[in-house]
Amino acid sequence: MNLLRRAVRTLTGQVTEDLGIDLGTANTLVYVQGKGIVLREPSVVAVDTETGAVLAVGEDAKRMLGRTPSTIKAIRPLKDGVIADYDQTEAMLRHFIKGGTKRRFAWKRVVVGIPSGITEVERRAVIEASRRAGANEAYIIEEPMAAAIGAGLPITDATGSMVVDIGGGTTEVAIISLAGIVNAKSIRVAGDEIDEAIANYVRRSYNLFVGDRTAERAKLEIGSAYPLEQELTFEVRGRDLVSGLPRAALLSSEDLRLAIQEQLTAIVEAVKLTLETAPPELSADIIHRGIYLAGGGALLRGLDRLIQEETGIPVYIANDPLSCVVIGTGRVMEEIRSNPRLRKVLVQASLD
Ligand code: ADP
Ligand code: MG
Repeated sequence: MNLLRRAVRTLTGQVTEDLGIDLGTANTLVYVQGKGIVLREPSVVAVDTETGAVLAVGEDAKRMLGRTPSTIKAIRPLKDGVIADYDQTEAMLRHFIKGGTKRRFAWKRVVVGIPSGITEVERRAVIEASRRAGANEAYIIEEPMAAAIGAGLPITDATGSMVVDIGGGTTEVAIISLAGIVNAKSIRVAGDEIDEAIANYVRRSYNLFVGDRTAERAKLEIGSAYPLEQELTFEVRGRDLVSGLPRAALLSSEDLRLAIQEQLTAIVEAVKLTLETAPPELSADIIHRGIYLAGGGALLRGLDRLIQEETGIPVYIANDPLSCVVIGTGRVMEEIRSNPRLRKVLVQASLD
């Protein structure tokens, strides 16, 4: 932004509104400077299957699910950690930027946290989309970096910090030092794959067809990555594969662990691989400081313990793991002027 524009803004008394956005594969959150988190909605877009027109976004789009004629489809444009559809992603950003700001004439600066697997072209698309959606300045930050900042890790120090962000579509593992990502790995195994594995298991073992929502509910209620002191049970309802009629089955937490074993192994392996390829000085720091879990998946019972056992390194769950990334984006917005070292965490400045 040039000086002239800044002068005009100062003269006309135009206010600046800073937004941090976590554009997650499952959930989008918006943080407004001075207010905190103002919005938390599913990253879902409802589209007309014939015209492709966007009909609803976020909560509204999710509510339409299962209540619509066949001409409407609910889509998650970032489901796999890549942008599947640019128009839908832009519609989503527009909705969330609007929802986060009330002042119409404010100068809007946004920092968007995106999955780290996103390509250069996709990053530019997010910046362009943010600007078309009403942002005057737009910046990108990689999700694991934002998560580390949100978790309060000393990312600008010359010490290694490690975060594992287990979201809906992707698990992102990163080792950070001196405000840069030194080593990272992103895999498409996270909450969604765990839900699918549960649904598959129920179909195979109980001849019962259950939806992804039901599978997710079972995961939230009784899911675990490590044997529980008191194992749990949960009743799922679905359609009998043989009779075609509705039926229920009682699942146990042991059942569920069996169902998601492959996914748990994949997550643990991604953590190990990232550790194995880290520079030795940083490994030493991480052994000392521990690994931090973020994202909704961090809340899976016993996942911290499993990773701790498999790596031999202490594992901590970040404070409020579902909000880490957006808190991180917000903190970058707030501190970037007073702490220029933080600039380095932004992947790309606005195209202004
Ligand atoms: P993203 O950043 O990709 O949008 P989130 O960090 O919002 O993803 O996490 C969403 C995922 O976390 C979903 O798969 C959801 O099922 C899972 N999740 C949320 N709460 C829990 C919980 N208590 N236990 C296990 N998984 C959870
Ligand atoms: Mg996330």
